[in-house]
Amino acid sequence: STTTALPTEDAIIDLARSGLSACGADLDALLAGGAEASSTITLRSPITGQVLGQMAADTAESAADTIGKAHEAFLAWRDVPAPVRGMVVQRWGQLLTEHKEDLAKLVTLEAGKTPSEAAGEVQEMIDICELAVGQSRQLFGKTLPSERPGHRLMETWHPLGVVGIISAFNFPVAVYSWNTALALICGDSVVWKPSEVSTLSAVGANALLTRAIEEKGGPAGLNGLLVGERAIGEALVDDPRVELLSATGSVRMGREVGPRVAQRFGRSLLELGGNNAAIVTPSADIDLALRGVVFAAAGTAGQRCTTLRRLIVHSDIAGELVDKIVAAYGTLSIGSPTAEGVLVGPLVNQASYEKMQASLEAAQAQGGEVLCGGTRVLADAAADAYYVEPAVVRMPGQTEIVEDETFAPILYVMEYTDFDAAIELNNAVPQGLSSAVFTSDLSEAERFIARSDTGIANVNIGTSGAEIGGAFGGNKETGGGRESGTDSWQAYMRQATNTVNYSGELPLAQGVEFL
Ligand code: NAD
Repeated sequence: STTTALPTEDAIIDLARSGLSACGADLDALLAGGAEASSTITLRSPITGQVLGQMAADTAESAADTIGKAHEAFLAWRDVPAPVRGMVVQRWGQLLTEHKEDLAKLVTLEAGKTPSEAAGEVQEMIDICELAVGQSRQLFGKTLPSERPGHRLMETWHPLGVVGIISAFNFPVAVYSWNTALALICGDSVVWKPSEVSTLSAVGANALLTRAIEEKGGPAGLNGLLVGERAIGEALVDDPRVELLSATGSVRMGREVGPRVAQRFGRSLLELGGNNAAIVTPSADIDLALRGVVFAAAGTAGQRCTTLRRLIVHSDIAGELVDKIVAAYGTLSIGSPTAEGVLVGPLVNQASYEKMQASLEAAQAQGGEVLCGGTRVLADAAADAYYVEPAVVRMPGQTEIVEDETFAPILYVMEYTDFDAAIELNNAVPQGLSSAVFTSDLSEAERFIARSDTGIANVNIGTSGAEIGGAFGGNKETGGGRESGTDSWQAYMRQATNTVNYSGELPLAQGVEFL
């Protein structure tokens, strides 16, 4: 069903103004700055498609300056004891708790998420702050016995330097905090290039961190923010002062960024696209599977990296489950996320809508049958906003288009009869982020966990909706990075092995004789 109530242009501006001002930034000052700047970025909301105005963007020079200041800040910050660094992150978490709704408003405004999902995203920021504060007292190194008498070996961890963060539009603030909360307790400074689509959310999240740093006496420059499109991201990619580049976005972006960082022997942490599958077996609780599938496939309008895109269902139950999914899709309320009861908001922009249409056409050309959805709605009310009915497409097999990630709500359905073949189908795509099995059979669940090649492999729960504390990330073209898990902090530090000799002699390792 479609909810037709769309906010007025003034209501959208109000959302931006009130959300930002509560977080400590001023929309009118940003817009005034944009009117004068030589390089600008367009601020826009997918809810109505309206342009809010222009904001000043960074240039190559200003980006280099910000990275330089972050490097200076790092030199001071690395000497602050880790638990004291944790106090800044603790304060950021408190401010995020206080301003959860304000920041969530900006996420709704720019990413089109429902208030509940936007608040969930900010909650994830609060959760990672809590994890990081505890972690600040647990930057453990191991000690080990030496093969030489009177010697000791230990591994120690040290601050790394400037951490560059490039993030995607669909988690405009959470991914930033996953990296930043840990980087800060590890003694690093950060410079963030958020998605050009979600600049205001970034300004809000960053303003709260600036306040926490100022209140706790941290160095200025510790949290740099670069506003702009991908060319500004490239400043982080190529600058040798950026020791670690953590980049979240499409596989295309990772293919460009990864080799360039490697070229200068920098470190990169890549969190790229997914193409996630769920297998539903005959022993599954069908109603539970139904809810898991519908949230994972249609929630966030299909714009999560962990969105369920492929359903692999046993042929004995395929008819029943698919009928139920199509019926459930018919009850989803589509429209402005600011309207009461809406569950499916807009696609981010026209390009995303066009890509969805092209994929649906390709799927049909490859033998697919659209069972429901795919149609644009609300075009009359908002010509520049792109709302669509989530689609379910029955496919004859895992054709070429099914191997692609289309960042929109399309669920491809395929049938299986042999469970091991279903797992092979799950694995037979280039991406490797998330997967799920719905089953009551313990041996099926364990076989799936052992063989699914994704970074996240769930049982009786959908592919999306991860929790802080479990390592998040994927394999193959998803890039191999892991964030916010039990040992994720190690990515933000450099490890050293130290051999300490208290013997007064100088025996060489492996019994080597010299001088
Ligand atoms: P995108 O790749 O278009 O952009 C992501 C970010 O990279 C933006 O900030 C963009 O400006 C920047 N960028 C792009 N090319 C660049 C380059 N050559 N050099 C430097 N910076 C560059 O992605 P998007 O449309 O914003 O987000 C959707 C994609 O992100 C999907 O593929 C989704 O699966 C993926 N994603 C992955 C995760 C994860 O954790 N694995 C999380 C969220 C989103």
